[in-house]
Amino acid sequence: MTARRSPSPCPARQNRKIVSPPGTPLGSGATPRELPIRDSLRNQRSYDAPQLAIPVRLNTNESPFPPAPALIHDIAESIREVAADLHRYPDREAVALRNDLATYLTQRTGLAVHTSNVWAANGSNEVLQHILHVFGGPGRRVLSFAPSYSMYRIIAEGLGSEWMEIQRAEDFSLDMDHAVAMIAEHHPGVVIVTNPHSPTGHRLGTLELERILHAAPGIVVIDEAYGEYSTTPSAIGLINRFPMRVIVTRTLSKAFGFAGGRLGYLVAAPPVIDAMRLARLPYHLSTITQSAARAALRHADQSLTLVSIVTAERSQVSKTLRQLDFEVFDSHANFLLFGRFADAPRAWRRYLDHGVLIRDVGTPHHLRVTIGTPEDNARFLEVSETLRAAGV
Ligand SMILES: *Cc1c(COP(=O)(O)O)cnc(C)c1O
Repeated sequence: MTARRSPSPCPARQNRKIVSPPGTPLGSGATPRELPIRDSLRNQRSYDAPQLAIPVRLNTNESPFPPAPALIHDIAESIREVAADLHRYPDREAVALRNDLATYLTQRTGLAVHTSNVWAANGSNEVLQHILHVFGGPGRRVLSFAPSYSMYRIIAEGLGSEWMEIQRAEDFSLDMDHAVAMIAEHHPGVVIVTNPHSPTGHRLGTLELERILHAAPGIVVIDEAYGEYSTTPSAIGLINRFPMRVIVTRTLSKAFGFAGGRLGYLVAAPPVIDAMRLARLPYHLSTITQSAARAALRHADQSLTLVSIVTAERSQVSKTLRQLDFEVFDSHANFLLFGRFADAPRAWRRYLDHGVLIRDVGTPHHLRVTIGTPEDNARFLEVSETLRAAGV
C-alpha cells in the first residue's frame, strides 16, 4: 500500500502493526449469552467507528495535521517536568488546566469565563457521562435530535436514562416548532443540542437555542465539539441568562488536533461545576493529561490557523462535490455530509477499496467525509469522481 501522507518524523510510527501472541485467551469457554449483563446494556452496541490503517483516513473528524514540532517539544518537556511527581496523585481539581481553559475561552468569546465555570475530563465524552450521571439516570428522559452523535444514546441508556430522539426533517434541518412542542410534551431532564450539528454540519442560531431553552424544563447541553470551525457565537453567552440550565461542552479533540490526548471540558455556572464532582472518579485526569493539554493550549493560535485552512478546504471540497453532481449539505464544521447514493454502505466500501476511509453514519443515501489535508482531499475528490463516473 502506498502511503500518501508525508513521512512520519518518528520512525517507530511506521511500525505500528500489532501482532497478537499465538494461542487462545484464558477463559475461552465463556459465552456472552451466559454473562449476567444488565438488561439495559444487553442489546447495546458499543461505539464502533472503524480504525483502519489505510492511507487516507477521513472518518472521525480529527484534525488532519499532526502537532507541529514546537508543540511536540513543548508536550514532551512538560511531561518530563511533571514525571518527577508521578508518585503522587494528580491535582484532583485540575486547577491550572481549568484556569488555562478559562483564559482561552475568555480570549475567544470576549466573555469573562472564570476557572469555577470550567470542568474538564478525558474527552467531552467523559464530560457528557459526568453530566448525564448527575442530571440523567433512572426515571429521567434524555432527548436529542436524530440523526445525531451515537454516543449520546450509548451514555444515556448506559446510565439508565430513558432515551428519546426527535427526527430531523427530510433535509436534516430542525423543525423548531416541532422540536419545541415535543420538548414541552415529553419534559426531558436533559436535552442535547449539537451545534454545529454532526453529522450534518447544520448550525442553530442564538434565537433557536433560546427557544429550546424556554421550552425545556431541565438542563440543555449544547455540544460545541466543532465550535471553532463555525462563526456562530458560542452558547457560553447564554449562561448568564439561563445559569441553572445551560451547559456548553467542548473538546480539544477536533480543532486542537489533540484527539489522542483526550481532553474535553464544559462551561457552566459554578453550581453545575460543583455537581460534577459527585460524578467524577477521584483523580480522573492524569497528571500527564493535564500537563499535555496545557501545552496544547499554549499553542492555540497555531491550531486556530490550521482550522482556517480546514474551513477553506471545506468550501473547496463542497464546491467540487457539487460540480460532480453530489448533494452536499452546508457545513459549519470540519466535515461534509453528502450523497445521494442508492446504497450508502456499498458506496462506503467502494471508497475504502480505493484507500479512502470515510464514514457511514447510518443515514440512508448519505456518507460523511472529514475534511483532511489538501492532499487527502484531492485524493478523496479523485475517488469521488471515479465512483460518480461508475454510477455509484
Ligand atoms: C467528536 C465529537 C465529540 C468529541 O468527543 P471527545 O470525547 O472530546 O473526543 C463530542 N461530540 C460530538 C458531536 C463529536 O462529534
